[in-house]
Amino acid sequence: PSSIERHSYDVLIVGAGGAGLRAAIAAHEAGARVAVICKSLLGKAHTVMAEGGIAAAMANVWPEDGWQVHFRDTMRGGKMLNHWRMAQLHAQEAPDRVQELEEWGALFDRTADGLISQRDFGGHRYARLAHVGDRTGLELIRTLQQRTVALGIDVYMECTVTKLFQSGQATSSAEKRASADGRITGAFAYWRESGRFVVFDAPTVVLATGGIGKSYKVTSNSWEYTGDGHALALQAGASLVNMEFVQFHPTGMVWPPSVKGILVTESVRGDGGVLRNSEGRRFMFDYIPEFFKAETADTEEEADGWYEDKAKHRRPPELLPRDEVARAINSEVKAGRGSPHGGVFLDIASRRSVEYIQRRLPSMYHQFKELADVDITAEPMEVGPTCHYVMGGVAVDPDTGESAIPGLYAAGEVAGGMHGANRLGGNSLSDLLVFGKRAGAAAAEAATRAEPAAGVSDDDVRAAAEAALAPFERQGGENAYTVQQDLQDVMHNLVGIIRTADEMEKALQDLGKLRERAQQISVEGHRQYNPGWHLSLDLANMLRVSECIARAALERTESRGGHTRDDFPATDDSWGAVNLHCTLDGESIAVRREPLPTMPDDLRQLFEEK
Ligand code: FAD
Repeated sequence: PSSIERHSYDVLIVGAGGAGLRAAIAAHEAGARVAVICKSLLGKAHTVMAEGGIAAAMANVWPEDGWQVHFRDTMRGGKMLNHWRMAQLHAQEAPDRVQELEEWGALFDRTADGLISQRDFGGHRYARLAHVGDRTGLELIRTLQQRTVALGIDVYMECTVTKLFQSGQATSSAEKRASADGRITGAFAYWRESGRFVVFDAPTVVLATGGIGKSYKVTSNSWEYTGDGHALALQAGASLVNMEFVQFHPTGMVWPPSVKGILVTESVRGDGGVLRNSEGRRFMFDYIPEFFKAETADTEEEADGWYEDKAKHRRPPELLPRDEVARAINSEVKAGRGSPHGGVFLDIASRRSVEYIQRRLPSMYHQFKELADVDITAEPMEVGPTCHYVMGGVAVDPDTGESAIPGLYAAGEVAGGMHGANRLGGNSLSDLLVFGKRAGAAAAEAATRAEPAAGVSDDDVRAAAEAALAPFERQGGENAYTVQQDLQDVMHNLVGIIRTADEMEKALQDLGKLRERAQQISVEGHRQYNPGWHLSLDLANMLRVSECIARAALERTESRGGHTRDDFPATDDSWGAVNLHCTLDGESIAVRREPLPTMPDDLRQLFEEK
């Protein structure tokens, strides 16, 4: 261990997406010594792929909008399982976070009178998404990255964290939670290029590692989304909440096979695109749930009128929350009314001018032209559901982002609670900014209060290094890619968009076997730039997180938001009062029920008035 590269900071941020960078800026401004570590290059985090926009009740287009309306939409979209305090803070603070981005140099699209323009998205009552064409994530990352670099914050790129260090001798997760032991003392990582190790000593760690989509066969997520932060938190003794809720975005590309799953932004529908089946029918009118009837148009005339005059018309059913639209598409395809390649048609060509489509949706135009040879200004797209976002994540204190483990924080997609059973589009980018800032500031504050740490022991470093090198010690074992492919099939086929008890029990058995196989994976070659080795380490995380999803999904015997049970199709009020928390119990995952925190009366009233 004495030869291992070593650094010391007050706040260590794992992840350089929107949440990580916003946390880094806040921690730096609070006077902490901060490092950001990321698996890929700075500027390449998943956030860069975000298309449609940032939700914030700025009331630039609709003066009627305000944080209470945004809060109510978010809670209803999440089927009331969201942590009310997170949804409140998010709705209240998102406008300031967007404004601040502009002050730091972000160039948003404008309204005719020069304000930041806001566009329509599913589940949002008013046009609310601040955007830059359909490349909003790129502008957000560009702005935050520039600021991070200008402030002189240290960034460790292509560096992957495999373990968090904690004080004391506690080994089991339960012991760690029950004792003062388990306080964060640092993290262990390897350099992607050289395979060499690096140790960070730090009293606080902010996890900002994003999502888990790579455990599924069809996903809009990039290679980085292997649930590392979720698994690191579990291992440290923290709990994950809402893991049964995985968002399948209704519109991913379905053809050609090489691009299956790539996202088609919801803005296509927000800007006038409609969904049709093979018979040409706008089928979403057949799928308006009771819960949203009062606010959804039930004729094509009314739906089309909404684009011109929103005050006099109700919203088109194509803009229902994502879970509703994804299920409807799934049903149409199952009923034999799908498109030639197993999706449905998304048509904006017959509804908007060529000029309008190219101006509002430039990335979509190029994406389809280049990847599928389809001109979306002239013909419909073929689309179908794709695994997109995990609502579940580390259970945190709403105000600070701290988990149950002292010194361990989480923000962004890796944190849970904010979105409940289903996330509304645009609410992630705002979530990153609001809670990234909060977690960074709270971690900096805690780090300055923390007693000087004893430092990570040589024994702990040695153990972390041995665990990371274990795949090299085995001979003749399986290849990591085969195991990953089998995992993706299991999750896609058995824990996908529609679920049953039999299938999930089978999934849990299969996951057990995959875990055994993963422990036998051997890697060829040496430590320098060895993707097979990296994947073998990621796989352990993917398997843990997948088990959380399957166990929680089996436990929740109802359908709600991103979780649909064929054997329990109804939403059950008694489940509406409970969240499921997953923890690591020895080598397996334990699930426990926890009542929802009580919403104060003034907020509760917002749901009674309408
Ligand atoms: P990320 O941006 O994914 O960053 C994660 C970081 O963690 C990366 O830097 C990665 O390298 C690092 N990391 C991970 N594991 C490790 C490890 N072990 N060690 C070191 N570093 C690690 N949301 C919206 O609100 N509006 C939209 O319009 C929108 N469009 C989207 C379009 C697409 C195609 C996709 C896929 C998502 C979209 N989303 C959108 C969702 C949103 O983009 C993500 O939820 C959000 O960007 C997640 O940000 P994050 O900061 O939590 O994580």
